[in-house]
Amino acid sequence: MNAEVHGCGNTPVPTSSGTLGETPAEMTSSNPPSRADLGRGVVARWCRRTWLAAVNLVLPPRCAFCGVDIEPEDGEPLLCETCNRLLVPGWRLGCRRCGTLVPQVPEQPEFVASKPLPPAGRCLRCRRQPYYFDGVIPLGPYRDELRQAVVRMKQRTGDHLAGTMGELYAQRRANEVAAFRPDVVVPIPMHWSRQMVRRTNSPEILAARISRHLGVPSEGAMLVRRRNTLPQAGLPPTKRFENVRGAFRLGRGYAIKDARVLLVDDVLTTGATCSEAAKVLRKAGAQIVLAAVVARTDQPRA
Ligand SMILES: [Zn+2]
Ligand SMILES: [Zn+2]
Repeated sequence: MNAEVHGCGNTPVPTSSGTLGETPAEMTSSNPPSRADLGRGVVARWCRRTWLAAVNLVLPPRCAFCGVDIEPEDGEPLLCETCNRLLVPGWRLGCRRCGTLVPQVPEQPEFVASKPLPPAGRCLRCRRQPYYFDGVIPLGPYRDELRQAVVRMKQRTGDHLAGTMGELYAQRRANEVAAFRPDVVVPIPMHWSRQMVRRTNSPEILAARISRHLGVPSEGAMLVRRRNTLPQAGLPPTKRFENVRGAFRLGRGYAIKDARVLLVDDVLTTGATCSEAAKVLRKAGAQIVLAAVVARTDQPRA
């Protein structure tokens, strides 16, 4: 696949097919770096380390979830060891189609990245549900600490935690998402009026972090929420699909024929929102749409 995703004003957005796993620097330069480039790199790293040391002296790094002082490794999510473990409990993917998780069996690997996506079959939970997305990769089940993290991410003060959860997702699900070879990362859009009230947009923050790790663009304007919908949390499952019907449109100037799209949201319950967003992308020509979510509800809700 050699899709070319065009951004607003038909400016081509570089695609990444077949290049995931490389760092962005590796992707953009096939020639060996010159001495001047190496020199600039050394200076940039020294400046970054000095700046971080100065910041750490004034504001010691704290775990983004529980607040204890930590000594983070370079490139690691800002979480203490305990939260790092609790936020990704030992569950494994039971259904690639709807992202349903099942308790981990000790001798089996958590996720099996070598299996192709989307899945051949569907589980009992989703086999009667016509989703427009092709698969779901959750970080973990919507319960306990991960549920608390998702709830806090949506709050006004949740930006830092949302960024950390994006790092954690990108790190823990790197193989599964890289195997999908996305061309573009797209957050589920929030209506402008809701964003004004919340003053935060956790899917956008998550998408930005995930896209940085993958070295593919995050296009926050590719999907537009045309109307403000009722909060899905207060509605029964059947009403949730009705509630979001026609809620999205493709952003002006985007051409996504044959693109592989990674759709990002914080939590997936019935899948109604991601499915409706995926419908718009598929109708615009996207080849395949995979949903990346921090948490997946592990029980169907009545
Ligand atoms: Zn912690
Ligand atoms: Zn399923």
